[in-house]
Amino acid sequence: MTLRLSDTTGFRAGLALATVLAIAALALFVGLGEDPTGIRRLVAAGILLVAGGGALVVGWRRGRKQANAAAGLIAAVEAMPHGPAPSLNGRWHTELTPVARAVDRTRRTLASRLAGLEQASAEQNAILQSMGTALLAIDHDHRLLSMNRAAADLLGLDARAVRGRLVEEVAREAELNAFVKDAVEASEPLTAEFRINTGGQRATIQAASEPLCDEQGRPAGLLVTLTDITKLRQLESLRSDFAANVSHELRTPITNIKGYVDTLVQVGVEDREQTARFLDIIRRNAQRLAAIIEDLLALSRLEQAGLRESPETKDTPVRSLVREVVGQLQSAADAKQIVVEIEVPEDLMIRVVPSLVEQAIANLVSNAITYSPAGTKVRVTGAIADGGFVEIAVRDRGPGIAPQHLARIFERFYRVDRARSRDHGGTGLGLAIVKHIALALGGRVEVESKVGVGSDFRLLLPVGTGVASSASPSTP
Ligand code: ADP
Repeated sequence: MTLRLSDTTGFRAGLALATVLAIAALALFVGLGEDPTGIRRLVAAGILLVAGGGALVVGWRRGRKQANAAAGLIAAVEAMPHGPAPSLNGRWHTELTPVARAVDRTRRTLASRLAGLEQASAEQNAILQSMGTALLAIDHDHRLLSMNRAAADLLGLDARAVRGRLVEEVAREAELNAFVKDAVEASEPLTAEFRINTGGQRATIQAASEPLCDEQGRPAGLLVTLTDITKLRQLESLRSDFAANVSHELRTPITNIKGYVDTLVQVGVEDREQTARFLDIIRRNAQRLAAIIEDLLALSRLEQAGLRESPETKDTPVRSLVREVVGQLQSAADAKQIVVEIEVPEDLMIRVVPSLVEQAIANLVSNAITYSPAGTKVRVTGAIADGGFVEIAVRDRGPGIAPQHLARIFERFYRVDRARSRDHGGTGLGLAIVKHIALALGGRVEVESKVGVGSDFRLLLPVGTGVASSASPSTP
């Protein structure tokens, strides 16, 4: 481009100058009249040649200068979309200088606008990328225009690699693809709920589509949001299961009470023996009702935050807590000739709400006594455990719990043997309460059990302050 421009411009300038000089030389030649020696003609011809050559050189140089300036301008204009280019000011003193200045001003304005746009685009991109909701932009042909990080993670895709490809080609999820198809056809907002595979698991997804428009407001495709609502749906299902379980658990004693009261009303109370038996059943069912309601209230209190540091929190000796609990359950243990041994260092302290830990230990010891055969031993131990925890363990030589039940026994109302649990007045909430007490106090509960050998429940609670450990466990 530079060469062609310099040639043409130089040639034209040179031609103009040569024409002027040729006319002058011709006039001189004609005006001088006869020239027998021919010297004048030679001089005139020489002038003509020199003038022509000079004009060509001057023209070529001038043209070249102009061409360089033009080439510089072209380069600067071409560089504009790619960001700042070197300033043109003062580099060319030619007729193109005003043009160069105008181009330079335009370049600066464009450069600053471009920087602003780039910053705005980077900000928008950062927002989209950090959004927890998965976003997909899709054109009318179902091709992926872009997706944010959450979408790439959810669908297990490389956002850059799949750009421009068909959704159904990269995301092999029949329900997602059907949704995209419907949304493209509907051209109005759509929502749907379906399940997809993500990270090797099934997830429940809430999808919503919005028409995507270009800057002129013309339809350009779809914006699809995908929200993982698996946890929400699980919670909803847990809540409805819990409500169903509570109703079921309450219905049994209420039905019993109602039935026996109705019978007494019908048959009268003359038969003293029968009346006493019915009243005893009514009393036991009422007790059961009260126990369930008590446990439910305990669970609901535990779900409220702030138990870890409540006004009742204090440094408490673990041994006195354990002794208190074992004392309360002594008659139940005696009734089955079960010996409860305590091995807790005297100076083992824990900073907790004492009544909560008492309740947790009581539930564990009570279960150990309930489910162990008569004449066996239950051991309650206390010690400092790794990670700044105090471990309170309750070990029995009872029937043990099969592995398939172990993971579920801390669920509300879960029982291995429903009838057996009911027989001893269990609510199925005891271990759920232990778990929630441990969590509320910043700890956890663990279990190891072997069928036919026994169970080992361990309550791990953070040490807190004022703790001392002793190497010499003592029994009461
Ligand atoms: P429950 O009121 O039925 O005792 P829990 O929540 O305390 O309810 O216990 C849940 C289930 O775990 C019990 O029904 C029982 O089957 C089993 N379980 C709990 N502790 C023991 C134990 N020490 N030995 C054997 N099974 C136990």
